[in-house]
Amino acid sequence: MFRPILLTSFCLSALLAQTPAKQNSTPAHFDLTAMDRAADPCVDFYQYACGTWKKNNPIPPDQSEWGRFDELQERNENTLRQILEETAKPTPGRDEVAQKIGDYYAACMDEKGMDAKGLAPIEPELARIRNLKEKSQFADEIAQLHARGIASLFDFSSGQDFKDSNSVIAQFDQGGLGLPEREYYLKQDAKSVEMRQKYLAHVQRMFELAGEKTAQAAADAAAVMKLETALAKGSLDLVSRRDPEKVYHKMTRAELAALSPAFRWNEYFTASAAPAFTNINVSYPDFVKTINSEIQAASLAEWKAYLTWHVLHSEAQLLPTPFTLENFNFFGKVLRGAEELRPRWKRCVQFTDSQLGEALGRKYVELTFGATGKQRTLKMVDALEKALGEDIQTLTWMSAETKKQALVKLHAITNKIGYPDRWRDYSSVVVKRDDALGNSFRADEFEFHRVLNKIGKPLDRGEWDMTPPTVNAYYDPQMNNINFPAGILQPPFFYNDMDDAVNFGGIGMVIGHELTHGFDDQGRQFDAQGNLKDWWTKKDAEEFQQRAACVADEYSGFSVAPGAFINGKLTLGENTADNGGVRIALMALLNTIGQKKDKVDGFTPEQRMFLAFGQVWCTNEREEALRLQVQTNEHSPARFRVNGVVENMPEFQKAFACKAGQPMAPVHACRVW
Ligand SMILES: [Zn+2]
Repeated sequence: MFRPILLTSFCLSALLAQTPAKQNSTPAHFDLTAMDRAADPCVDFYQYACGTWKKNNPIPPDQSEWGRFDELQERNENTLRQILEETAKPTPGRDEVAQKIGDYYAACMDEKGMDAKGLAPIEPELARIRNLKEKSQFADEIAQLHARGIASLFDFSSGQDFKDSNSVIAQFDQGGLGLPEREYYLKQDAKSVEMRQKYLAHVQRMFELAGEKTAQAAADAAAVMKLETALAKGSLDLVSRRDPEKVYHKMTRAELAALSPAFRWNEYFTASAAPAFTNINVSYPDFVKTINSEIQAASLAEWKAYLTWHVLHSEAQLLPTPFTLENFNFFGKVLRGAEELRPRWKRCVQFTDSQLGEALGRKYVELTFGATGKQRTLKMVDALEKALGEDIQTLTWMSAETKKQALVKLHAITNKIGYPDRWRDYSSVVVKRDDALGNSFRADEFEFHRVLNKIGKPLDRGEWDMTPPTVNAYYDPQMNNINFPAGILQPPFFYNDMDDAVNFGGIGMVIGHELTHGFDDQGRQFDAQGNLKDWWTKKDAEEFQQRAACVADEYSGFSVAPGAFINGKLTLGENTADNGGVRIALMALLNTIGQKKDKVDGFTPEQRMFLAFGQVWCTNEREEALRLQVQTNEHSPARFRVNGVVENMPEFQKAFACKAGQPMAPVHACRVW
């Protein structure tokens, strides 16, 4: 899988990407039994809202974390499993969509078949690498690998021009690492050093499984580590990557080629079958220079080891069982703390979703998505937009001039709910019942070309970056839109049969979060048309930065494990969106219910909204997962997504009668929006 340079702000933790477990839990209602009433909401609100749930819901052995929306994700996965098991039956009259996803799933489930084939399905890739005679052939080879979804050296894709959002241009981005992020190669603390030793051992074992003798495998693993470390050193850090100006360097093909003459760019572009183009955004030109120096510095043998490793690594989960287990040992166990490999069907559901997502999503929507959910969500979006408008108008620190621009941007935000109007057409993807790895290559090839073919074409505003069953949502600063897949419009985010207080604390808070992304430290740099363009007065920008720095400092003080702290700058956009989102969700709730403030279960509407919000985040995490999250993820861990927000809200302190100076009512509260 390749990653375009996305500034898209996803709502939930990216750790979700490899979630699920446990069988058939029933929909979780806003329930009093999740609470720990012995806890004081003013001392630790997260514990008060979630304490009993946390105690009663230990992490399943195949998970690195387990939370309320993992429960929802699991329900979705069970639905997807039913769809896939049904469509996998080769009945006459199966429609084309059913054939694609059904046969893909059947092939993926055929563990015995995969074991029997050994390395044969990737032998053409391995042979091509073995037969490389000189480094000048890399360009063509890398294009072959990229087309099959094998990440190596860098990423090539397409995207909207930051400064001309209607135009889709070619995009180059740094890449080519095996560990999650550049700092994993560079940090010198004991834990990081140990992690690298374990990674090196893992790479060596993968080479041994592929048939290499111990000494050769050790030498090849060392070569991989050397090259990846050089690429990591040449990469831009995660915090800088959040700054759009730092990842925008539009240049001509000739200018790119001049940065790295050792790599034959024209051959790469031809081999990748990209449409003709003139301009390309090179996210980080220094990385291109690193490619050049490493092509010259490392030997052909070292490069062959590197490329071979990335083939094995990329396809490990569709190779014979020993590869899958070894891959899990490092990436599941060591890195994330999971104890057991997820059952095969869950992995195959996830692969189908990631490779034929809109075909599977189409069947999912037919089965599950009702018009009621969409209508009520649209009404809530209206209420939240109105609340954010009021919030902007009443800000004391912003001038009338900037407020006017902010409102223009707010009113230009469009929304997409549920699923795409037009489904992606996978008819050209050949899917065979007995060829899991070939199916994966062909699906990746389809995706690679689909993305590249957008270069120079009119922008399609109807496209989605998430599949319909996904339990997540996003704001896209270049589209200036908010997107809510069908998968999230369910409990504990959205209940058809619950009152407004609960729904505003759940999906209302998510809507508010996504809207606020348009005005966080990153989103605020884009205008109503999605262009990177400064619409702030100098003074207002300074006022914003001062308030954002307060949030960054607040979260940087949160420790998740011994020696591991949240990175306040990396998570600033998400934390700003969380704080703004809850505030405008509460405003929208109060606007909606007016004077109707009856207590339910002994709680006021405000208290119920805060509890519903807190309970969305009830989560248990393993220490490894928390360490990984704070190092790589733009989202704060669950506890701090709750406590970090309510600490800043006088409305919360009033709702629960907290006294100034208590932990949830600190003297120095932060507020941006
Ligand atoms: Zn977000």
